[in-house]
Amino acid sequence: MTKPSLLVLPGDGIGPEIMAETRKIIDWLAANRGLEFDIYEDVIGGAAYDRYGTPCDDRTMAKAQEVDAVLLGAVGGPRYDGLDFSLKPERGLLRLRKEMDLYANLRPAQCFDALKDFSSLKPELIGGLDIMIVRELTSGIYFGEPRGISGEGDDRVGINTQRYTTAEVRRVARSAFELARRRGNRVCSVEKANVMESGILWREEVQHIHDTEYPDVELSHMYADNCAMQLVRTPKQFDVILTDNLFGDLLSDCAAMLTGSLGMLPSASLGAPMDNGRPKAMYEPVHGSAPDIAGQGKANPIACILSFAMALRYSFDEGDAADLLEAAVESVLAKGVRTGDLLQSDGQSPVSTAEMGDAIVAALAAS
Ligand code: NAD
Repeated sequence: MTKPSLLVLPGDGIGPEIMAETRKIIDWLAANRGLEFDIYEDVIGGAAYDRYGTPCDDRTMAKAQEVDAVLLGAVGGPRYDGLDFSLKPERGLLRLRKEMDLYANLRPAQCFDALKDFSSLKPELIGGLDIMIVRELTSGIYFGEPRGISGEGDDRVGINTQRYTTAEVRRVARSAFELARRRGNRVCSVEKANVMESGILWREEVQHIHDTEYPDVELSHMYADNCAMQLVRTPKQFDVILTDNLFGDLLSDCAAMLTGSLGMLPSASLGAPMDNGRPKAMYEPVHGSAPDIAGQGKANPIACILSFAMALRYSFDEGDAADLLEAAVESVLAKGVRTGDLLQSDGQSPVSTAEMGDAIVAALAAS
């Protein structure tokens, strides 16, 4: 049997540091759990500009299309600020997302018990939180036409268009229902059908996919403004939240920050199923390349490590290994091991990026 394949793109800034720790986990799983991958590594973003003169080389793009999943660190940095827009590191990331047609963005908001005091909400509201937001990523108001600014002087008009097709809503709805079946089996679909026609279409199409293909999953509908309120009132009522590009942008940041540090937040972007049944997929931390701490051993590698856990679960059907890895992270945090971003104040000293990676490997070995 051929091994599953993974393209690793560490990127810029803290990207290589957090990816090195994630590679320790990958190596441990291969050596101790027989979970082996064909791994390819390449550069992306500023590092790709330095090597190839472009933020995402054609060969890198071709490999990304061929493998079972892409794992990316982060891109960007002040060194590249002066480059033409088309050569900026972020364009590399956008090319991958666009050409792989990654239309479903998965952002978990999960609260590890050891970090519940980190949230701005009361610990009892947040402890044990485990929400998944599925945001449509390739359509909606950020892409709809017409768009632009017209007119002059005191008579200017700014226009953006919220536009969704049946096919666009149906495919992302399927992603959310599939995901719900692997979790709590509940989807809450979020729009503003009370004031937007695109919201009415969204609601009808999600209901249709539910009734015809996923009647076993519990479906509810909620207006986006109410969802924002509910997220900070009783966030644990949700399992999977399905929503469009604009509302998803806001709600996923809000939900994710309920749980504390940027250094803890993983994400996945999924596209259509490939011939082998696996979805096109890219996994990456939510945070950027953190140039202010790059090269100093201060970065928290957990967001990247949890992104790999998502890859295990959603690309490789290795839910048990993902559980094991998440439990190892939880146990390390419970012991009080903290990188600088997870320290609230008092005299506790932070561990380095590598020490955090080693602690998670040790917790895996002890499990
Ligand atoms: P950032 O996420 O890189 O950093 C924001 C703050 O959070 C910084 O203080 C940073 O030190 C801290 N931080 C981030 N990740 C951390 C981690 N793992 N451990 C500890 N602390 C962490 O956002 P920014 O400063 O606005 O952007 C820096 C660069 O990253 C820019 O070039 C930006 O364009 C790029 N960026 C890339 C991505 C991506 O690759 N997906 C996302 C956002 C920003």
